Amino acid sequence: MILEERLATYINSLDTGNTAFLNRIEQYAAEFDVPVIRKETQQFIKTLLAIKKPRRILEVGTAIGFSALFMAEYNPVCSEIITIENYEKRIPIARENIKEAGREAQITLIEGDAQTILPSLKETFDLIFMDAAKGQYIYFLPELLRLLKEGGILVSDNVLQDGDVIESRFAVTRRNRTIHKRMREYLYEIKHREGLVTSILPLGDGVAVSVKRKEG
Ligand code: SAH
Ligand code: MG
Repeated sequence: MILEERLATYINSLDTGNTAFLNRIEQYAAEFDVPVIRKETQQFIKTLLAIKKPRRILEVGTAIGFSALFMAEYNPVCSEIITIENYEKRIPIARENIKEAGREAQITLIEGDAQTILPSLKETFDLIFMDAAKGQYIYFLPELLRLLKEGGILVSDNVLQDGDVIESRFAVTRRNRTIHKRMREYLYEIKHREGLVTSILPLGDGVAVSVKRKEG
């Protein structure tokens, strides 16, 4: 947790909560160690959806479908959501959750590695939620920017690695060192790339919000 624990608890205590169905999936995720968007991030995404009202959403990293179902539930307009997942054990659970929610027509789960799926997508998106393996964000970026509409929003989750991102590379474990380096490159890139306006928020595990500027 980056945000002071008591502060996060207080902020979360003000929230009016989610549907019982979403609560159930979230509980399952906690029980079986499946990562899902954190409470503070959920509130933030709800607000973003209210501002942007995206019609087409792309998600990289479905896990068991919590965030996709969350966005479907709290987007003020009915959106089409395409979500990508490559972990075989999670895919059937996500499919089951999507089916149970009655959102099979709205949410399309594509199985496979985002690295190969992304280049095959053609239609652009109003909002992209980047929530897959942290070490790969930097490689996905060119494709995500191609797929993002002008004025579209790219939300990147878990960008501060629980605060590790500010440590020296020697202070993080060897296993995390590559992720650390690549995430720093990613943050530098989304902050400096022309045509992108980015804000990095110390929310949840760190969330970056980038807007693709309209030309002219
Ligand atoms: N968005 C979900 C959580 C996603 S966790 C939620 O908040 O509910 C990240 C997921 O990304 C994991 O399930 C992992 O298997 C998947 N993932 C990681 N790298 C991937 C890749 N290259 N292609 C597709 N899925 C990937
Ligand atoms: Mg995440």
